[in-house]
Amino acid sequence: MMLKLLAAFVIVIAGLQVAMAAEWIKPIWHGSATSKKIALTFDDGPKPEQSGPILDTLDALDVKATFFIVGKECQLYPDFLNRMVRSGHELANHTYTHTRLDSLEADAIGVEIVSTNQLIEALTGKKMRYFRPPGGRFNRIVLEKAQEAGLETVLWDVNPGDYTQKKAPVDLTEDQSITNRSSKLIYEAVLRNIRGGSIVLFHNGGIQTVKAVWDVIVELQRQGYQMVTLSELLSDMPTVTRAR
Ligand SMILES: [Zn+2]
Repeated sequence: MMLKLLAAFVIVIAGLQVAMAAEWIKPIWHGSATSKKIALTFDDGPKPEQSGPILDTLDALDVKATFFIVGKECQLYPDFLNRMVRSGHELANHTYTHTRLDSLEADAIGVEIVSTNQLIEALTGKKMRYFRPPGGRFNRIVLEKAQEAGLETVLWDVNPGDYTQKKAPVDLTEDQSITNRSSKLIYEAVLRNIRGGSIVLFHNGGIQTVKAVWDVIVELQRQGYQMVTLSELLSDMPTVTRAR
């Protein structure tokens, strides 16, 4: 009897240790569900051909968004970064080479994150607060390295899959029926899944994304949502409640 109790006790202690060891830093998936605020996020820029029309759309509809920037891209197009900042958008870290971080050693993960922080800050004077791993692929080390670099890892709760649609360039001569169909699918996917506090994943994609973003914003504004930067979306949330 005593032996059985002892065995049970040992198992409980071992279980607790496993539970404690398994406690990860928690990424952010969405903001407060009780708010009417939403954050639109655009990954993989800056890419002049795609980022330009997206910025035109956001400016025309007076919406602030967050751009997850790839370091090697912003070295090529620093002007776009500064236009984003001037328009009141937030910049965030999306690694230097846009590589899958969960297959890298810890040191290499750190370099991807820290070098991008330094580069964006040097080009714009802005300090990064948020980080998103390419492909949404992360492990415990990725989350720890982001935290070491002073960043919170942010994923999304609405993914309309704009990258799975036809890879159309921003070209008015292309087939409008294909573009319209693709942008309608993106629009419908957002509207189906949106709620207060949502973080929406878009990319600096083709004309189908640009068209969808316009329609999405107009409809969400009609429904009374306010589209804000990540900093603003998350400003009223205590860190402990941010996990999914
Ligand atoms: Zn990406």
